[in-house]
Amino acid sequence: MSLFREPLPPIPQETAKVVRAITRRKKNLYVTFADEIGPVYVADDFADAYSKRGQPGLSPVLLLLVTLIQFIENLSDRAVVEALQFRIDLKYFLHLPLDYDGFDPSVLTEFRQRLIKLDATKVLLDKLLDVAIEKGLLKSSKQRTDSTHVLASVRDLNRLELVFETMRLALEFLIDWNFEWLESIAQPEWAHRYAQPCFNFRIPKKEKDKANWIANIGRDGYFLLEEIDKLENLALIDHPRISTLRKIWEQQFVVENDHPKKGPRLRKDDEYTIASSEMIVSPHDSDARLGTKRGFQHKGYKTHITETCDENAPHLISHVETTSATTTDVEMRPLIEKRLGEKGLSPLEHIVDAGYTDVKTMKEASDNGLDVIGPMQMCTSWQDKAGKGFALADFQIDWDTRQAICPAGKTTNNWSERSKESSLHIKFEVKHCSACPFRTNCTKGTGPRTLQVKERDLFDALARFRKRQDTEEFKKKYSIRAGVEGTISQAVRRSGGRRSRYLGLAKTHLQIAATAAALNILRLANWLIELPLAKTRKSPLSLLSVPA
Ligand code: SF4
Repeated sequence: MSLFREPLPPIPQETAKVVRAITRRKKNLYVTFADEIGPVYVADDFADAYSKRGQPGLSPVLLLLVTLIQFIENLSDRAVVEALQFRIDLKYFLHLPLDYDGFDPSVLTEFRQRLIKLDATKVLLDKLLDVAIEKGLLKSSKQRTDSTHVLASVRDLNRLELVFETMRLALEFLIDWNFEWLESIAQPEWAHRYAQPCFNFRIPKKEKDKANWIANIGRDGYFLLEEIDKLENLALIDHPRISTLRKIWEQQFVVENDHPKKGPRLRKDDEYTIASSEMIVSPHDSDARLGTKRGFQHKGYKTHITETCDENAPHLISHVETTSATTTDVEMRPLIEKRLGEKGLSPLEHIVDAGYTDVKTMKEASDNGLDVIGPMQMCTSWQDKAGKGFALADFQIDWDTRQAICPAGKTTNNWSERSKESSLHIKFEVKHCSACPFRTNCTKGTGPRTLQVKERDLFDALARFRKRQDTEEFKKKYSIRAGVEGTISQAVRRSGGRRSRYLGLAKTHLQIAATAAALNILRLANWLIELPLAKTRKSPLSLLSVPA
């Protein structure tokens, strides 16, 4: 029987004796967690995650805990195995003998792949939360969520580098796949053209040379795809390197039939035919996307972190989601709330920023007993922005008679429904608006004034939410949202969460889930040690602020 085929064995006496001696005066996070919380994961959780080949002695429970240590300490695979060899507190945490000499770090790579294949990522966080509930250390009535960007583990490529690198990687893959076949179809100049990775300084500077350079790459890609299709080998056609080549050529190139000699060229900005959510930005990681927020752009992913924030209990991360960089926050909030419900952790109050609020889903949540506390987007009409003129609030809406009355006292019942947007389009009469003395206060268009309003129940709910956010009670409840920024900061600074360590969405999510579980271990141990929470840093410049 190998060391870890069964649940972790008892802590070896020698290890315990040494740890007791050296932690007599100062408590240690791993020792406290092992003593007070005990085993979290059992072998049954990962029955299918045992390696069928090689390294038969290593249990998934051990490898999982080592993975979490990596994110508590922000260590590479090699560094964490070294730490296991030399740190006694880690040996105690993992129930290892003092003379344990580690394992080959490549085992961790294989383990991560098995976890993803088995879709076992959620076990990392959920098992820990179950144990926290059992120990009475998890209160979930108030939770807060925020998102942050995660950079893909790839070099930032411009479009010219992107198409070149895609072609180069496809050729490198095909050399391994079938060298003789590639040699039989390869153009003589490919060996020289694609020998080196593409960097901007290698791209011709003159416009004419650059156009020829791009056309050659485009032609090479189309030719290669044609030859691959002739083989009718579905496994090859669907291989990520080849399907990425095909997609990037569809996305980036256009062939001008009226100029066959010119060859393919890159699309101009107004010639793209697909949404940015589909646009591949790197052949090295075809899941990464270009995200934009308030003028800041990044290539990679977005992660949403939800944590509990009740008083008198540790603040634990209750859920994480990782999405494409182009997915909006507001799309994710209902899904996050659904997942929390599935875990039995539905909050009574979910505190979020304006990016997550939307009247329709907030009303649905409210009808189900969940209060979403977050500011609604304010009206964006020119009248609201300027604070003058006739804004929507200046019109009377009579829902029973389906009439709207404008500030000049004119009435309209010209209402039409837009079911897709759950909204109504209300139009005043041309004869009233064209002769109206208040027209410049009301509309800048040439036609009559129109109004876009939500359906009645949403219209009323929106008014209610907007009114509520001006109250002191709302401001007090909302003020605790900012605490989640500290959690994001901890994930970034302590665990290296700003950049993905791995390629692809699934592995990036594994990193985020492991980071969340790692921070929860840290927070539970700190709570048990009675370490006070860090205070919010105040800028020394705040001393200069003088009440107005
Ligand atoms: S422009 Fe039309 S809608 Fe506006 S106040 Fe005048 S009559 Fe009423």
